[in-house]
Amino acid sequence: MTDDFTVPVYDDGDADASYIEDKTVAILGYGSQGHAQAQNLADSGVDVVVGLREGSASRDEAEADGLRVAVPDDAVAEADITVMLVPDTVQPAVFEAVKDGLEEGDTLQFAHGFNVHYGQIEPPEGVDVTMVAPKSPGHLVRRTYKRGEGTPGLIAIEQDATGSAKEQSLAYAQAIGCARAGVIETTFKEEVETDLFGEQAVLCGGVTEMVKAGFETLVDAGYAPEMAYFECLNELKLIVDLMYEGGHMGMWNSVSDTAEYGGLTRGEEIIDRDGFDEILEGVQNGEFAREWINENQAHRPAYKQYRDAEQNHQIEEVGGRLRELFAWADEE
Ligand code: NAD
Ligand code: MG
Repeated sequence: MTDDFTVPVYDDGDADASYIEDKTVAILGYGSQGHAQAQNLADSGVDVVVGLREGSASRDEAEADGLRVAVPDDAVAEADITVMLVPDTVQPAVFEAVKDGLEEGDTLQFAHGFNVHYGQIEPPEGVDVTMVAPKSPGHLVRRTYKRGEGTPGLIAIEQDATGSAKEQSLAYAQAIGCARAGVIETTFKEEVETDLFGEQAVLCGGVTEMVKAGFETLVDAGYAPEMAYFECLNELKLIVDLMYEGGHMGMWNSVSDTAEYGGLTRGEEIIDRDGFDEILEGVQNGEFAREWINENQAHRPAYKQYRDAEQNHQIEEVGGRLRELFAWADEE
C-alpha cells in the first residue's frame, strides 16, 4: 500500500492468498468479465466452477478453456464465493434463481454495484457482499494476466458478515491479477454513482454529443461532411491517446501553440456546467436507475428509438464509407 493517494491503493504485498486458496468460486456468466476472471482464478490455483444454464452457448467455450461447468443453482450451492458476471439487467432474475444456495459465511460478489445500490438485489444477512471490479474490459484482464501483469481494479465491501470480507476481496483481486497494477478501495455507492455519471456526462454521452454538435455545425455551414468527420471524430482518437499517455499537459505540449491557445481560450464556451449537475443529481436520487429499470421491463421502447436515430445520423453514413478507405488500420 502506498500513501501517495487520497484513498487506500493496495498491491500484491497487501494481499494474503490464504483467504481464497481453499475456497470454491462460482462464476455466473461467461462473457467479457466471466471468461477472464474464471481463467485467471484457475491459473492462480483457485477452484472454479462456471455457472451456466443447460443449452447456454458459452458452455462449450468454458469447457474448452478447461473449466468445470454446472447449472447456476448447483454452482452457487457448492461455492463459497459467488460472482455475478451476467449482464446487470439480468442479475436480479439470476439472483432469485440461485439465492437459496447462499449459506451463512458465503460471499456474493459483484463487478458493478448497480443492482445492490438501487435495491434490485437484496442479499440475505449472514453473507458477505463485496465488489471486485477490474477497471478494464475482460479481454485485457486476461491478456495482461498471462503476461504477468494486470489491470487496475476496485474493491468495495457492502456487507461484512464474516469480518474478513476485505482480506478475501484483496486475495481475489490478486488472483485475477489486479493487485499487480493497483487496487483502489471504494464503496458501492461511489462506484455506481461515478460510473454512471462518467459514462453519461463524459465518456459515452458527453463525447458523442460533442462530436455530433461539431459535425453538424460544420455541415450546416456548408463544409464537406468528409472534412467534418475527420476533424470532429477521427482526430479525437489522436487527442485522447495523448491525454491517456500524458494527461492534459501531455496533449497540450504535443499540439501546435495555435491549437493550444485556441483550445484553452474557447473550449469552456461549449460546456454547460448545469447539465453536468443535473446528470449527477439524476444518478444520486435514483431517477436514472428507475427510468432504466422501467425501460427494461417495457422491453426498451425508448432505447430502440434512440439507437435508431443514432444509426441514421449522417456521421454514421459518411464515417462508414471513410473508414473503409483505411480498414487496414484495425489490423495492427
Ligand atoms: P457480458 O455481457 O459480456 O456477458 C454476460 C454473460 O452472461 C454472457 O456471455 C452469458 O454467458 C451470460 N448471459 C447473458 N444473458 C443471460 C441471461 N439472460 N441469463 C443468464 N445468463 C446470461 O457481461 P460483462 O460485460 O462481462 O458484465 C458482467 C458484469 O461485469 C456486469 O456487472 C458489468 O457491469 C461488470 N463489468 C464489466 C466490465 C466490462 O468491461 N465488460 C468492466 C467492469 C465491470
Ligand atoms: Mg462500468
